[in-house]
Amino acid sequence: MAPRFNTLGMEGFRKALKDKGLKATPQRVAVHEAMLRLVHASAEMVREDVLGNGGRITVSSVYNILSQMADIGIYSRRLSAAGRKIFDVVPTRHLHMYDVVEDVYKDVADPELLDLVETYLHRHRFKGHKIEDIDISLVCRPTRRGRSALTPKLKK
Ligand SMILES: [Zn+2]
Repeated sequence: MAPRFNTLGMEGFRKALKDKGLKATPQRVAVHEAMLRLVHASAEMVREDVLGNGGRITVSSVYNILSQMADIGIYSRRLSAAGRKIFDVVPTRHLHMYDVVEDVYKDVADPELLDLVETYLHRHRFKGHKIEDIDISLVCRPTRRGRSALTPKLKK
């Protein structure tokens, strides 16, 4: 799948690591390659992908790498309704659809909706609180037409 949104390709990933004083170890590279394929994934999913591509890594190593990358802003974190810790290869703000049946996130390319919500919230005050981030997930279940119908814009 071609990278969308603000995903770092391999070259950008290596550069981002270098900028943070980190080495592009084979394990970090393997995890990032898996994340580019999976887009949203738990440590278990990344491990399976790495193993499926001939690599070797433990779930805890994967988890540590994913967490470290999230801490330095290369990935973002999500929590699925089923309680799984999901990492997102896109670190910047974007919309999601969450499929409650499959327990998966999908990116939604709809900057207009995001702008609408941001503009609305900008004009509102929440006493005692300051909005730090906006995280929108449209909670969905597949229609009879199937899961591909959920994200027509992304299916080109
Ligand atoms: Zn996403």
